[in-house]
Amino acid sequence: MLCYFALAGAAIALTRLSGGVALLWVATAPLLAMLVGRKPRRWAPLIAAAAIGSLLASFCFSAIWQIAPILGVANMAEAVIGALLIRRWHGTAAPLASPQSIIVFIAAAGLLAPAVSGLPAAAAVSLWLDLPFGKVWFDWLIGHGLGSLIVTPIVLLALHREPERSIPRHRLVEGAGLALLVGIVTAAVFAQHTFPLLFVTALPVMIATMHLGRAGASLGIVIVALVGGAFTLMGSGPMMLIAQSAAVRLQFFQLFLGVEFLLALPVAAVLSQRSALMRALSESEARYRLFADTATDAMFTLDPDGTIRFASPAVRELAMYEPEALVGTNALTLVIADDRARVQEAHRQALAHPDRSFRVEYRSRRADGEEAWFETNTRAVADPDGVIVSVVSVVRDLSDRKQREHELERAATTDPLTGLLNRRAFQRAGADMMALARRGTPSTLAILDLDHFKRVNDEHGHAAGDAALLMLADLLRDSLRPYDAIGRLGGEEFAILLHGLDLAAARPVCERLCRALAARSFAVPGGERSVTMSIGLAELCSGVTLDVVFDGADQALYRAKRAGRNRVEETADFIS
Ligand code: GH3
Ligand code: MG
Ligand code: MG
Repeated sequence: MLCYFALAGAAIALTRLSGGVALLWVATAPLLAMLVGRKPRRWAPLIAAAAIGSLLASFCFSAIWQIAPILGVANMAEAVIGALLIRRWHGTAAPLASPQSIIVFIAAAGLLAPAVSGLPAAAAVSLWLDLPFGKVWFDWLIGHGLGSLIVTPIVLLALHREPERSIPRHRLVEGAGLALLVGIVTAAVFAQHTFPLLFVTALPVMIATMHLGRAGASLGIVIVALVGGAFTLMGSGPMMLIAQSAAVRLQFFQLFLGVEFLLALPVAAVLSQRSALMRALSESEARYRLFADTATDAMFTLDPDGTIRFASPAVRELAMYEPEALVGTNALTLVIADDRARVQEAHRQALAHPDRSFRVEYRSRRADGEEAWFETNTRAVADPDGVIVSVVSVVRDLSDRKQREHELERAATTDPLTGLLNRRAFQRAGADMMALARRGTPSTLAILDLDHFKRVNDEHGHAAGDAALLMLADLLRDSLRPYDAIGRLGGEEFAILLHGLDLAAARPVCERLCRALAARSFAVPGGERSVTMSIGLAELCSGVTLDVVFDGADQALYRAKRAGRNRVEETADFIS
């Protein structure tokens, strides 16, 4: 409130020269700056305080205090309109940090807000003092617009300075020196009125802006305003070259200040954007360097046509190439022929979608000629116009992973003791053969179970039992053809799928297996012994499910056991 009172009072007392409204109205600026930074529902106390300050100032200093309430409302409306527009168009992000936000600020605070608030104010003043409405409105627009434009950024900067970031000492010294420079140049320009040297003040203000950004621009303008304003009020300086009233000179001085500030602000905004950009860039460069130098993955930069422009040192470990030796070659030539199409497709996709990364696995030859699996993540780099300038790739050695994948796959499908298919894998093979059977290629399922196997374990120990299981597995592998499936369903129960054989053809094969097993022997503690097995058969045929076939073979096996073991039985009754 006191602030508003003081500023409004000063404006009225010092600049109400032409008898109408004040010619440089700086009182709205602090209010506007404070409103921009907080939510509208927290505005009321601020507006109330400023309104009281405005009324008091009018009563104390103004000759037209009778219409002070109307002017007070207009002043408050001006700050509210300006703040609402800025918040709506630009949000509450750092004010005046970008050229766009400066345009928003000029349009809202410098033009629209004073233009609207000037309507009731000018109407009241022109009626009360019998002055032309248009002139009063224009004075209001210029006085208030320029006042807000010049002072609001300074207040905003003061409000927005992050308290934890203290200004380093050399910055303060630099600021003081620049302030002195602006002051001396301005004093020199305003100490004479022979030449219209106003433009010379732009030089130190720009230097201050270059060095200190927005703070420099604000500092410079404040000093030009104070020093130049003092000289002008004392009747000295280039304003005296204007053969007009003091009021017009003052208005012109404001116009000059406004333009000079508006020149400096965008420069400051671009500079601060650029320094933020440079910071971000050097950070990302440092991250990249660290990664490129220490990673076990190799990094490549390619031209859009695939020519290698840069390869990181890790290619030595990865593929035994010297990085420099790869520069200039086409990356695709390193990929083995079978996989080139896939790699090329990933590259094409990356070029088409520069916002995404693409992954491809492929085989490539190392410098020593050995083939290995690699994985590449690739991403195109577009310039600001969207033109692809290069492609960056990270290449990883997949040999270990491929090996592990292979082992895992094996573990998931094989029985660890015998190396035969496990139950799940065997059933998958059964489903495949079932499909073939439906198309006319016969095959027969045989389930095998060792006879009195518990006794083997009981008499000779578990290790001897395992030796018997391995003996059977070897026998099956030796006797059957590569396209027959052999599995261990669990315990001492095995199964085979005899490809291309119907029940009649399978039976003699299985009988031979029984005889062959009985003829072999396995080691037991202190000697060796043999073991027999029983087999149940069922043919895979269309019209039944695999489960039914398994059941049929199981029942046949059960009959073989009951019929005395060491024999083959079959189930044919489910065949329709
Ligand atoms: P049958 O002639 O009726 O089949 O008699 P069996 O003694 O073989 O009876 P059954 O099939 O019920 O017994 C299976 C035995 O196989 C039980 C268990 O001791 C043994 N066995 C199961 N898995 C293993 C294994 O991995 N290693 C060893 N050594 N023995 C096993
Ligand atoms: Mg058994
Ligand atoms: Mg059994």
